[in-house]
Amino acid sequence: MKQVITNNYEETIEFGYKLGLLLNSGDCLLLAGDLGAGKTTFTKGIGKALGITRVINSPTFTIVKEYHGKYPLYHLDLYRLDGLGSDFDLEEYFESDGITVCEWPDNVSEIIPNEYLMVEIFRSELDKRIIRLTPKGNRYEKIVGDLDE
Ligand code: ADP
Ligand code: MG
Repeated sequence: MKQVITNNYEETIEFGYKLGLLLNSGDCLLLAGDLGAGKTTFTKGIGKALGITRVINSPTFTIVKEYHGKYPLYHLDLYRLDGLGSDFDLEEYFESDGITVCEWPDNVSEIIPNEYLMVEIFRSELDKRIIRLTPKGNRYEKIVGDLDE
């Protein structure tokens, strides 16, 4: 487990960027935190690290947005998803060679891979956020370890 504090929006993007530089094809990140915590902001930083130039924003009515950079980025926002419907084959994204970043993963706990990086964002005072990384599996432990270097 690793925890960092960001003092504003820009610092959260910067931290997402740093983490994004360490990602590889097939990686999976789960983002937890209340609405407005900064999950999408963090994803913007990841996108920047992947060289994605399109603006990454909250997919309000879209469950999945796909971006093209160094690797494909699948940004899933499952806030509105109430359990697994038959219309979506979300499993496909988690198993893909792209990078999958999933907001509100609890709504699809059945299809979450065994290994992933959990990123929890908590609001602190004013614009401060506490970002906690919990790796599950060797691959993600390495990423979190590499962040310190
Ligand atoms: P989520 O995806 O978790 O619902 P967003 O990233 O869309 O959240 O929104 C976060 C909001 O909080 C933005 O309006 C942003 O400007 C604001 N904010 C304030 N301080 C921070 C911070 N330290 N990190 C990220 N966002 C922050
Ligand atoms: Mg969001």
